[in-house]
Amino acid sequence: MDNRKIKKKDIGKLLNKWSQDFTVFVPSKENGIATMSKWDGKDTSFLNWYRNTVVPPKANLLPNMEKMFSFQKDKEGYHLELPAQDEQKQLTFGIRPCDAKALSILDMTFKDTYEDPYYLTKRRNTFLVGLGCTNPCDSCFCTSLGISPAESNDVDLMFVDIGDEFLIEGVTDNGKELIALANGVEEATQADEARAKEAKEASYHKVTRKIDTKNIKEKLLSSFDNQDYWEKVAAKCVSCGICTFLCPTCYCFDMNDELVKGEGTRFRSWDSCAFPIYTKMPMENPREEKWRRLRQKVCHKYEFYPMLFDIIACTGCGRCIRLCPVNWDIAQTLDRLPAKA
Ligand code: SF4
Ligand code: SF4
Repeated sequence: MDNRKIKKKDIGKLLNKWSQDFTVFVPSKENGIATMSKWDGKDTSFLNWYRNTVVPPKANLLPNMEKMFSFQKDKEGYHLELPAQDEQKQLTFGIRPCDAKALSILDMTFKDTYEDPYYLTKRRNTFLVGLGCTNPCDSCFCTSLGISPAESNDVDLMFVDIGDEFLIEGVTDNGKELIALANGVEEATQADEARAKEAKEASYHKVTRKIDTKNIKEKLLSSFDNQDYWEKVAAKCVSCGICTFLCPTCYCFDMNDELVKGEGTRFRSWDSCAFPIYTKMPMENPREEKWRRLRQKVCHKYEFYPMLFDIIACTGCGRCIRLCPVNWDIAQTLDRLPAKA
C-alpha cells in the first residue's frame, strides 16, 4: 500500500517538524481575512474550514506588492541593484485542488516568452500539500473545469479527510520523500483507501453548480461584438477589481518607481483590467467602457488563455462570485451567452 495516514490531532506536530526545514504556510486569518500565512506553531482550526481562503495562495508567489530592484541616481546616471532571490524552501499546507491547479496555470504565463525570476524562484522552492474539500460552497463549480474537490495532481502530497484521520497520497517523488520521514504517520489500510474513495466521490457530487464549457471559446468569439449583452452583464459592476485581485489565476501587475534623494526602488503590485485607469501609463486604456473591461475578464479566462495555452484559466473556485459586492456571476454570464456555437 503506497498511501499513508495521520491522525488529525497529530497535524500540529507534523507542521512543527516541517517548520524545521521550511517556512510553512497554512490557512489563517490576518486582520479577519482568510489567507495563507506563516504557521504560528499551534493553530490548526483551519482543518475545520469548509471554505477556501479569501486571498488565494498565489499571493505567496506573486505578492500584492514586491520589490523588483533598487537604484541610485548620481551625476553619471542610474545604477541598478538586483535583490538576491529568496531561495528559502516553503511549504504550503492546506491548498485546495482548485488553487493548486491555478498555480499550474500561472506557471504557463511566468515561464512563457520571459522567465520571471521573482515568481519562478519561489515556485521552484515551494512544496504544495493539498487538503481536499468536504463541503464545497454553492458558488464553486470546479467539477465543470475538470477539477475534483478532493483530488489533485498539482500538489506534492494530498490529504483526504477520512474521519479522525487523513489519508495521505504521495503525488510526486518529492512528496513521497517528505512524508516517508515524518513522525506519527502510518501505512494506510485497504479500509482507509475505501473510506477516502467514498469521501472523494461524496464531495465531488456536492458541487452542484455547473457550467457547460463545450465550445465555450467559439461561443465567446461569436458573442464578442454583442454590445447589448455585455452592457447588460456589466450594468451593476462598480469596477472595484475584487474579482481579479482575488482570482487565483489573474496575474496582471503594474510597476512603480519611488525615488527619494537619489535612492530609488522599483515595485510591482497587483493591477486589474477592471480598473478604468488600467494600462493608462504606457498608453490609453483601450477598454474605457466598463462592459469592455468585464468582457475582457471573461474572454481572457475562457477564450484567449485557451488559444495561447490550450487550457481554460478559471478553476471554478467561486471567489469572484462569493466576493463581488454586487453579486456579478461569471457562471451565469457564460451560461447566458447569446451565441450558441
Ligand atoms: S468584483 Fe464585481 S463589482 Fe468588482 S469589478 Fe468584479 S464584477 Fe465588478
Ligand atoms: S474567474 Fe472566478 S471562479 Fe474562475 S478562477 Fe477566477 S475567481 Fe475563481
